[in-house]
Amino acid sequence: MPLIIVTGLPTSGKTTRAKQLHDYLAERVTDSNYRLHYISDDTLSISRTVYDLSALPAHTRSANASEKDARAAIYGAVKRVLTNKDIVVLDSPNYIKGWRYQLHCEAKAVRTPSCILQIGCSKDQAKQVNDKRLERRAKGEAQLEGEEPYEEGNWENLVFRYEEPNPMTRWDSPLFAVVWDDDEEQTRKIFDDLWETIAGSGRKVIRPNQ
Ligand code: ADP
Ligand code: MG
Repeated sequence: MPLIIVTGLPTSGKTTRAKQLHDYLAERVTDSNYRLHYISDDTLSISRTVYDLSALPAHTRSANASEKDARAAIYGAVKRVLTNKDIVVLDSPNYIKGWRYQLHCEAKAVRTPSCILQIGCSKDQAKQVNDKRLERRAKGEAQLEGEEPYEEGNWENLVFRYEEPNPMTRWDSPLFAVVWDDDEEQTRKIFDDLWETIAGSGRKVIRPNQ
């Protein structure tokens, strides 16, 4: 079953929405024989620092080994579980289109669909979340798992490098978007739509040569 690729700016609410989607799917898959998986940077112990180019000497920037290793770990984790009976929610920045293309191809290789869940959030709103986390850390307050802040430069750079999904491309479609202000009812509608598309009766049949 499908690979759901969550994407959005850093601290835009990806984990919050991914967990809501996971809970929603957990309710829906009970009467079928699908298995549900949640994979994230946090479940794979991938630190925010892997995205930090400023931590590297200038000449090594084009080959950010730690980010490459992180992607290899994510790819391996997805590949291990993804079949046409498994639904995978992948909660990671997934901000490079070439990377989303690679994931899309991986899904196609196991004849299962992929889709994008884009988390819409303004830059200011997302920045406020990270700033609050940085502040909490500076005060020495405890951080919950998954709430590690990004260093400021790392955060700005990730926003700058973010490659917005384009639903006109095969690998970024179908695309579903939830925005910060979407309440429970609206979010449910979007999840219903996603479910209908990936698992409902209108679901697209994947052929290897498509
Ligand atoms: P990310 O995984 O993108 O880094 P998180 O899911 O950790 O982001 O969310 C950042 C913070 O913003 C969390 O503290 C969460 O409670 C809050 N948050 C996320 N989405 C919303 C929303 N739609 N409305 C209000 N608060 C939100
Ligand atoms: Mg997160």
